[in-house]
Amino acid sequence: MEKKVCIAMVPCPGHGHLIPFVEFAKRFLLHNNNNGVFFHVTILVPTQGSPSSSTIAILNALPSNMDFTFLPSITMDQLHNPPTHPIPRMKLIVQLSLPSLRKALTSLTSRTTLVALVSHFFSIDSLLLAQEFNIFSCVLYSAGATSLCFSLSFPMLDKESDNNSNDEFLDLTKPVKVSGCSVSFQVKDLPDLIHFPRSSEVYKSYLDVCKALSLVDVVILNSFNSLEGDTIGSIQKEKTAPFVCPIGPIIQTESGNEANKLECVRWLENQPPKSVLYICFGSGGTISHEQLNEIAHGLELSGHRFLWVLRPPSKISESGYLIVTKNDDPLEYLPSGFLNRTKGQGLVVPSWAPQIEILAHGSTGAFLSHCGWSSAMESIIHGVPIIALPLFAEQRMNATLFTDLLKVALRPEQGDADENGIVTRDQVVKVIKRIMESDEGLEVRKRTRELSDAAFLAIKHNGSSYMALSSLAQKWRLKSIA
Ligand code: UDP
Repeated sequence: MEKKVCIAMVPCPGHGHLIPFVEFAKRFLLHNNNNGVFFHVTILVPTQGSPSSSTIAILNALPSNMDFTFLPSITMDQLHNPPTHPIPRMKLIVQLSLPSLRKALTSLTSRTTLVALVSHFFSIDSLLLAQEFNIFSCVLYSAGATSLCFSLSFPMLDKESDNNSNDEFLDLTKPVKVSGCSVSFQVKDLPDLIHFPRSSEVYKSYLDVCKALSLVDVVILNSFNSLEGDTIGSIQKEKTAPFVCPIGPIIQTESGNEANKLECVRWLENQPPKSVLYICFGSGGTISHEQLNEIAHGLELSGHRFLWVLRPPSKISESGYLIVTKNDDPLEYLPSGFLNRTKGQGLVVPSWAPQIEILAHGSTGAFLSHCGWSSAMESIIHGVPIIALPLFAEQRMNATLFTDLLKVALRPEQGDADENGIVTRDQVVKVIKRIMESDEGLEVRKRTRELSDAAFLAIKHNGSSYMALSSLAQKWRLKSIA
């Protein structure tokens, strides 16, 4: 019997990182298995401790041309002095998983024709094995071309600040022109990992990953030409850059997590068209208690309808990704009497909401978002304009792209925050009124709808993303017969 042509994928630990892998694989298989070549995808999941129930739920629902294996869990004993920051920690887990990954790949090659290993940006160390197995090394990059451009340029920017003998990358005082990017960035808007001291583990891990990125064969990008065509083009022109495949936008078609689904959809059914501001900071983003207060007062004062996904506050904006605080009711952190006063105006749901269904609903008029890449793609696809309140990672770069260049988002006027790092209630009211009531808001909505149309064209038969996916499949197909 002919062997299956197999793609192995190595996501990062954590279910938020798994979703884009599953969605990409489904799209790829649907695209190609309709073209007469039967690929199979195996997801090899590095773990530390038991996988979460949401990870298991996602993996158990895979279609028959996909399967998965949990790599043996890395124990705390193996992690001497485990890094507290998620990035060096994930990197270490992947490094310690390499022997079991090698075993899994050996087993796959005995049963299938293995042609490619696709890793997450932060699982990039797994691609050391691609060379060993003589297969394509690929990264599924979870943000856009603008961020990719920065990641590819970062080793050079770091070297420059090394030549200037700066201790911190932050010592760069002028706006940074990232080679190939269509917009310039303030240093504060660059990915937060570079704001760590250059001698820190976090900074070094990020630098290592960026250096490794330029050596991979293919970067698969969840973006599309009408969104970031110039930047994509400029990376593709670079002789030393990897082959870049813009196959996006790829988003979930329905929320896998049922939490609060019925309540949200029922509530939206009773609201006028485009009247609701949806507020959510991704799968784990958190805001401080003070910021939570300012948003609450701002919402109330604006008089606009809202649907707010609320998490317990924290001073660490990524804390929701690391710690799941059970029995901590987020509603208790709202200003006293807020829920009563806003009864007819808004709905607050704890921790999780069916974002896809909310963005697709006709009552939703705008999205106050942390500008995580998936959230932004989902908003654009559904033609919902964004209020940008970025928190961490590359989100400030995304916010700059969406406001300054693409004009699908508005940002509070005096930057993101006051001198204490807080966006005040007055700024919240102003930006809500700008997006919901003003001509400027209408323009942003119109532009978002145009980009939504362009997104559908890109993924349609013979669209730019469709063609990029075909060229990727062709590469992998040729490898299988080489
Ligand atoms: N999401 C959701 N409901 C929530 C919060 C998040 O469905 O209450 C989904 C959202 O639709 C998106 C993903 O989680 O697909 C968040 O990804 P993004 O890249 O925006 O942010 P991250 O979680 O990586 O910070």
